[in-house]
Amino acid sequence: MKQLTSQPSPAHRADADSPAWQHGARSGWLLLRGPSSEFWFDHWVKSLSAAGVAFHWGCALNRFDFDGTTITAAQVGSGERVVADLHVLATTPFSAVEIFERTPALARLDQICLFGPLTADGPHVQVSFRIGFGERIRWPRERCAVVVADSEFDRTIFAEEQAWANAVDLGDDIASLWTGTACVSSAPGRVHGLAVEFCTK
Ligand SMILES: Cc1cc2nc3c(=O)[nH]c(=O)nc-3n(C[C@H](O)[C@H](O)[C@H](O)COP(=O)(O)OP(=O)(O)OC[C@H]3O[C@@H](n4cnc5c(N)ncnc54)[C@H](O)[C@@H]3O)c2cc1C
Repeated sequence: MKQLTSQPSPAHRADADSPAWQHGARSGWLLLRGPSSEFWFDHWVKSLSAAGVAFHWGCALNRFDFDGTTITAAQVGSGERVVADLHVLATTPFSAVEIFERTPALARLDQICLFGPLTADGPHVQVSFRIGFGERIRWPRERCAVVVADSEFDRTIFAEEQAWANAVDLGDDIASLWTGTACVSSAPGRVHGLAVEFCTK
């Protein structure tokens, strides 16, 4: 799925790798200019807090109060009731199943019943990792991402410093910061015979 709504579309100058191009919504990967907390979440939290939104950090959503028609409140943490105009559930589907089951009248609704089968095959585990290098690692071309096609773990690798603003601190003594994703967690790797889900950090 590509995101659909971003505006405006940034202009990229022609270089050795491609002619000039507009990078707009629907045209492919869009990358933040820095770490997602600092460049995305923190700004949203600040803006929403200024608009009067109250955050309840670090406390689990346990259950909903349901009057047979509408969700009237959410119970979080050790029983605090949070009442809102709208209640949006955005947990993982596994957690959603548990939360709905605590309110049987809600769990019985036609659409809500669909969550159970959705999770029946268990989670699809993806693992993200970062590798920091003390020296700048040069990639063969700009704006490059790598799919390690012969890896049992189905890995992708990206060098963040390609996209992040110069002012972003990569970390103490870090000159190149690669992020990677392993999308297959259960196949044993050829070097140690270990599947990702059994590897230590
Ligand atoms: C390794 C990896 C790499 C990825 N890379 C990319 C990428 O490069 N680009 C991209 O666009 N997407 C990527 N994705 C996908 C992207 O991260 C997800 O699609 C996205 O985060 C889903 O957002 P979400 O808010 O729906 O759910 P989540 O981010 O899963 O958020 C659900 C939240 O609910 C919380 N929660 C669960 N239960 C409770 C409870 N009872 N009470 C309160 N909170 C609860 C969880 O702690 C979590 O914070 C990647 C995913 C993975 C796993």
